This record gives sequence, structure tokens and C-alpha cells, in this order.
Amino acid sequence: MAARKPSQPRWWAGPLKETQEQRRERAVRILRALKKQYPDAHVPLNYSTPLQLMVATILSAQCTDKRVNEVTKPLFKKYTKAADWAAIDQEALEEEIRPTGFFRNKARAIRTTTAELIEKHGGRVPDTLEKLTALRGIGRKTANVILAHAYDKQGIIVDTHFIRISRRLALTNEFDPVKIEFATMRFLPERYWSDFSLWITWHGRVICPARTPSCGDCPARGSCPAAESAGKVTWRVKTPPKPQRRRPA
Ligand code: SF4
Repeated sequence: MAARKPSQPRWWAGPLKETQEQRRERAVRILRALKKQYPDAHVPLNYSTPLQLMVATILSAQCTDKRVNEVTKPLFKKYTKAADWAAIDQEALEEEIRPTGFFRNKARAIRTTTAELIEKHGGRVPDTLEKLTALRGIGRKTANVILAHAYDKQGIIVDTHFIRISRRLALTNEFDPVKIEFATMRFLPERYWSDFSLWITWHGRVICPARTPSCGDCPARGSCPAAESAGKVTWRVKTPPKPQRRRPA
């Protein structure tokens, strides 16, 4: 028998013993409730072009959005094209982005990715997942951010909030971001992907943070199996992997 691909996890019925259809209905119900609760949810990174969003997203790894916005404000005035970024000396760029942390890796990622943009795409940021993830400094999360928020296409953006809340809502029992992305694709129709990512992430910032979720104020509590245990995932889940800090590509 052929081996199962790691990116396509087996269907997990969860504590509610749901079918795919039931989970789809519950997820859409949750999305509607979150949209009503947060009508102004938005991407907290400042940008006005796909290139700026790409750079800001690379810088946002292990860094607050506020800090990224402070760092990018003068940089976006100085460097406007992919060629500008690719031409910056590695050490000079490291100094400019130092406050965002992991500045050596981030500087390398920005320089190599923008150089590749010039070489393969005439300096433009491509608008497909395949072309974006083929770039050396771009992972699936950054690619989906660009698709969803620079090109108005559909993408599931699995960040730390999305992982935590998907598990609390028993939408997945996975830990790996790519497996969570594929598990979500199985029950959620494509037209909801970008909105679902944005509103779940916003919910994670406001009402459902890691330490103390405010379940009493949560508009999704009627659809959340973790509500009664104040955000604790009490049903049987996989063994979590050892915690490790993810370095940017
Ligand atoms: S009910 Fe609690 S744990 Fe569930 S989504 Fe809402 S805040 Fe998070």
C-alpha cells in the first residue's frame, strides 16, 4: 500500500465526532460570528505594494507587528523596487533591520528573494503559490499572506494564533503548520480561506490569546468545545513536538 503523504493528514473527527460537512458548517458559523464581533479586523503590517508586504512579512518572524512597522517606515521610503533591496550590502541591511531580531537571516532572505524576483520575474512579486514558494526566502505562510492580502486571492495563513485557535476549536489535532493548512483545506471551501485566516488570527490577538482566553466574551463559544475548560484542550490529542524557536528562512 502506498505511504500516506505527511501533508494530507487522516480525517480527525474530534471530540464532536464531526463529519467534514458538519465541520464546514461550524467553521462558517464561527467565521460569521467573528466578522460580526470584529468588523475592522485588518492586517496589522503597514504596506502599500506586494513587495512591501513581502519584506514586512519576512521581518515579522519572531517580532511584533508594531516593531516591524517602525523599522519599515523609513526603509519603504528609501527602497522602492526589488533592485533597491537586492543592491543593499548584507551588513548594511542587517544594521537597518536589527531591531526585528534574527537580522542576519532576515537580511539574507530579503536580498536573495529580491535578487530572484529580478532574475525570474522582472522584479515583480508573483501571484501564485507555486511561484512564490519556489523563491528561496519565501515559505508557505509568507506566500499565503501575499496571495491573500496583496492579490486578494485565497490562502490559509497558519501562524501561531491560527495553530492555537484551530486546536482549541477542535478543527484540527495537528501541530505542524503545513498539516494544519491541508487539514483546513479539507473542510473549508476555498472562498473562505483568506477571511477565515484573518479573523481567526485577529480573534487570537483580542479575545483568545495563549494564556487567558476570555471565553465568557467569546462570540464563538457556542461552537467551541474548549469553552467550558477556559481554552484548555482536554480531548485526546497527538503528542506535541518539543518546543523550538523557529528561525526565519
Ligand atoms: S470559547 Fe474560549 S477557547 Fe474557545 S475560541 Fe472562544 S475564547 Fe478561545
